[in-house]
Amino acid sequence: MQLPTHLIAGIIVQFTIYAIIPPSNWFSAILVVVIAFSSHFLLDALARFTYHPPERIHDNFWLTWHIFVYLIGFVIIGLCIWEYWLGMLFANLPDLWDWYTLRNIASRKSQPDWGKSYYLHPIADKIRQLVFLRMPDLTYKRVGILPELSLIVLWIGITIVSIINSLF
Ligand SMILES: [Zn+2]
Repeated sequence: MQLPTHLIAGIIVQFTIYAIIPPSNWFSAILVVVIAFSSHFLLDALARFTYHPPERIHDNFWLTWHIFVYLIGFVIIGLCIWEYWLGMLFANLPDLWDWYTLRNIASRKSQPDWGKSYYLHPIADKIRQLVFLRMPDLTYKRVGILPELSLIVLWIGITIVSIINSLF
């Protein structure tokens, strides 16, 4: 899944847990860490149901979609980092570890297989094979942006409504 989807998942996890167990109780932070981290694998296991080519596609659609998701992702980080950094961080940790740390080091060393045994994403692949293999495969289908786009639009709507509510 894309950056905004994992960010929104982390926010929802933290918001929900802190609503049930107050943040003053240290156990709530542990729950946020564990559930936000686990949410990454569940969502990535569902990525088959979204437009998610594993490699770059050289067309305007791929480029526009990726610029859009990163822009929205940075807006969400900017708006929510003070309140939801814990949930957002742990919901994105597998990507930060696999793609931005291990794969980065591997490409610097020019050894594509370097560190592969420490990748976390095989956990999501396992869940997908066990549970979600019968889902439609939209990996290369442009219509596959709709699930994540709907979530982003919904989240923006809820955020605007709650900001308006807090003003009155
Ligand atoms: Zn991931």
